This record gives sequence, C-alpha cells and structure tokens, in this order.
Amino acid sequence: MKIAGLVGLSLCFLARSVFAGEVSWNIWLQSPEVSQGGVAEIRASGEDIEVVKGFFRNQEITFSAGQGSYDAILGVDLEEKAGPVRIAIQGWNKGGEKREKSVILRVREKLFPREKITVPEAFDRLDEATKKRIEGEQEQINQLWAISSPRRLWEGRFVAPVSGGITSPFGLRRVVNGSPRSPHGGVDLKAASGTEILAANHGRVVLREEFFFSGKSLVLDHGGGLYTMYFHLADFRVEKDSQVRKGDLIGWAGKTGRVTGPHLHWGVRLNGARVDPFELLEATGDRQGAVGRKQ
Ligand SMILES: [Zn+2]
Repeated sequence: MKIAGLVGLSLCFLARSVFAGEVSWNIWLQSPEVSQGGVAEIRASGEDIEVVKGFFRNQEITFSAGQGSYDAILGVDLEEKAGPVRIAIQGWNKGGEKREKSVILRVREKLFPREKITVPEAFDRLDEATKKRIEGEQEQINQLWAISSPRRLWEGRFVAPVSGGITSPFGLRRVVNGSPRSPHGGVDLKAASGTEILAANHGRVVLREEFFFSGKSLVLDHGGGLYTMYFHLADFRVEKDSQVRKGDLIGWAGKTGRVTGPHLHWGVRLNGARVDPFELLEATGDRQGAVGRKQ
C-alpha cells in the first residue's frame, strides 16, 4: 500500500529547484502530512549534490547516502503544535557550493487517549532530596539527545524488543489527582519479569543507570540522532559504551523504578522528538519494502 503511495505522493510533492548554476536537486516528502508523534521520510537527490543536511526546529536531521539519493527520517514530537512547519535542507555540490531550500511539512493533530487516576496523596508526594535526584536524572537523559554519532549505525527495519502487546499506549495523557502529567513518551509492552529484552537495531549503549522513575534503564544510540530506551529492567546484559547488534539480548524485563508491575517501557527519540516506537517500525519497515534497498 505504502509502496504505491510513495510513488504517487512523490510526484505530487516533488519540489524541484534549479540553482543559479547548472546544479539542480529534488526533495521528496513521503507524505506532506504527519501526525504528532509520527515519523516523516524525506529524500533528496541531485546530480551534483554530494552532502545533504536538514534542520527542523533547530535540530539537525542527518541524511545518509542511498542509491542515487540522500534519505532521512524525521521525528515529530508528540507535543508539536499542529500546523505547517518548515524543514530547511542544505546541499553541497562537488565544488563545495552550498545550496539551500525548504519544504513544508504539515503536522496533524492526534487525539491521544486520556486517563484519570487517583492515588493516595502520600504515594504522589516526593521529598526534596528525591525531587533533586529526579532533576539530575532528567538532565542526564536530556543531554543524550544531541547527535553524538552523526553516522547511521542502524540498518533496515527496527524490531520490537519484546513480543508482548501494548499495555499503556504512546502519548497517553494522565491526570493524577486532578493535575495533568507529562504525556506518556513511549509505549508500555507486556513483559513478565525475566523476559528477554532485545536491541531494536544496531547501536551503542549510551546510558546504563538505575533511575528513580524509570528504574534500571538502558538507552541505545543508533546514530544520526536516533535513540531507543528500555526502562524498568530487572537487570542489564550489556555494559555502557558497548556495541550491540539488532536482536542482541540487552537485559531482562522487570519492575524497577516507579511502577506497579513488570513491563517494558520502550521509547524512541528522533532528532530530539518523542515519537511513537511503532511509527518507527512502520517507517523503517515500509521504507525497506518500498525501495528494496540493502543497507
Ligand atoms: Zn511507560
């Protein structure tokens, strides 16, 4: 379905520009619209273009060379404002001349599920020391999203780390004792304690810590500003800075951190945006099928 879609839409949304010189290039958006928390696919090509870079909301989007084109996936944060957003794309020709152009991507509002819960006040109250600890952990995690490895380490389609279904959906808006909390930045997958957790793709372990909320937590850097997170583990199977391959055992599911029962919280960051992990599976899966590329 998406194969035909890609071809059809490419024609509709082909943005062609001819530079002052003889250089010309094309930029395709797989779709002109993407939902909040979704993944957009961009392709740039041009006879004389050697390097391509993109910028979206001041975050760099990394392109990688495919067959006759430069390809990128871009994440749209689940709280991104609905409406048009500009993606600036820069290309360099063989002579080192820089060319810029932009495309407009329309962000579509998505209605995420809502849930109201009531918990005893004591359970919800945090002392000052704990608040400080949480702040520090948040800081540590937020520092990861800068692009530390521009080169793409991942290949082909991403895989789910466990086979269990979703127990708490992506983007869930939770209202606890009447006050709204930040939306659910990942998906909770059903996983009994001790279930093997597999790496969603090739990458490097950039975080291996035990945090207050997320418990034993792993973050994999897949390169190009793409990260996956695995929270509430019972235990780790990998060391920090180690390289992992897609499908490698990285840990075991558990209920560490602030949770009521065992499950895997699986999250994705792409160019700093919180995106639905299943959108990533779909984008990388269909892309493979669509272009039949061997990466
Ligand atoms: Zn979760």
